[in-house]
Amino acid sequence: MTYPAATGDFRTDMAAAAARPEERSAVIDLEAIRHNVRRLAAVASPAQVMAVVKADAYGHGAVPVARAALGAGAGWLGVAHISEALALRAAGIEAPLLAWLHTPESNFAAAVAAGIDIGCSGWELDRVVAAVRDQERPARIHLKVDTGLGRNGATLAAWDAVVGEAMEYQDQGLLRVVGIFSHLAVADEPERPETDEQLAVFREALAIAQDAGADPEVRHLANTPATLSRPDTHFDLVRVGLGIYGLSPFEGQSSAELGLRPAMTVRTVVSHCKDVPAGQGVSYGLNYRTAGASTLGLIPLGYADGVPRVATGGPVRVEGVNYPVVGRIAMDQMVIDLGPRNVTAGGPSILGAQAVLFGNGEDGGPTAEDWARAAGTNNYEIVTRISPRVPRRYINEVPYPHDGGAAVAGASGNNKATP
Ligand SMILES: *Cc1c(COP(=O)(O)O)cnc(C)c1O
Repeated sequence: MTYPAATGDFRTDMAAAAARPEERSAVIDLEAIRHNVRRLAAVASPAQVMAVVKADAYGHGAVPVARAALGAGAGWLGVAHISEALALRAAGIEAPLLAWLHTPESNFAAAVAAGIDIGCSGWELDRVVAAVRDQERPARIHLKVDTGLGRNGATLAAWDAVVGEAMEYQDQGLLRVVGIFSHLAVADEPERPETDEQLAVFREALAIAQDAGADPEVRHLANTPATLSRPDTHFDLVRVGLGIYGLSPFEGQSSAELGLRPAMTVRTVVSHCKDVPAGQGVSYGLNYRTAGASTLGLIPLGYADGVPRVATGGPVRVEGVNYPVVGRIAMDQMVIDLGPRNVTAGGPSILGAQAVLFGNGEDGGPTAEDWARAAGTNNYEIVTRISPRVPRRYINEVPYPHDGGAAVAGASGNNKATP
């Protein structure tokens, strides 16, 4: 999955970017990513951090986010697909990297050749070993146990056999069991008992593997909500996605309350502003009509850009005010009702003004959570679905070791435009 490269100068700062508003952009603040990684690393310590950058880093851009995360102390990267992992390797990223969702069509040979760790629930083992036979190095695998989520992973009933098979292959030098892991189902609802149950099953699975002679480098279970709320799930490594993007996994707890900073701002420029009479219908279906004579602003983003079509009422901030979207959200555009402005007679038009759908929420600005509420979904989906039609723009980028310099610890916060 590739998004178009951000246009213009990568090393520009927010002020300069704001001075040259783009028609549409998802601005990704890499200093926010680094801040969040440092924050999560402090919470997880002494466990290591795996930055989860699947789905193009939840829409933020996998390569720049991976570099920022590694520069801020993440020791590992995680993705779903081998193809996503290969794209990171192709970009020159050499960090330990795990891919965990495969099909019989997955390219295990390419993964082994690229030094990508492979999550295995059972059936993958034979395929991985077949892929290794023509290669000089053993595969690196992480065995996955299903502790209750009901998706990937071997059931506890099958675990003995899966571990046994893996250990046989390890003894033959074909693979090495580098990790043992599982995934939690309800960690975002800390009051629920199932996390304790999953943790108990995980411990049992670890004991079985240990009895079979497994000696994994990393045991890992926690996602972002468990990293933040359940230290007893940290083990050797935590896999954090949502948190590194600065978003809260908890209903009723904000990013700021968790010490996190939302990294993505989606914004555009108002494309039309006009007076309309009372009773003016707005957008397909004419589901909204103006209560009185009013002024409408046209926002040139729609569901093709990843704004959920069902999210009427979601906020758009223009000139310091959050206006709810009225009427249906269309493919390319949506409408806000500004109230009467009489722009025809010289009242204040917002044509060309910056319009922010969501950002870091400072100064009362709208957030991804606001849009999640309007759409009946979660903040994960709001950021991840921002489509390739919205160009990504990166701010506060600092050199990454592989770019030729050492990662400059003191350079975080350096947001000077570099010619
Ligand atoms: C997506 C994913 C994560 C990250 O979850 P967050 O809640 O975003 O931190 C961790 N582990 C697995 C297996 C995943 O699929």
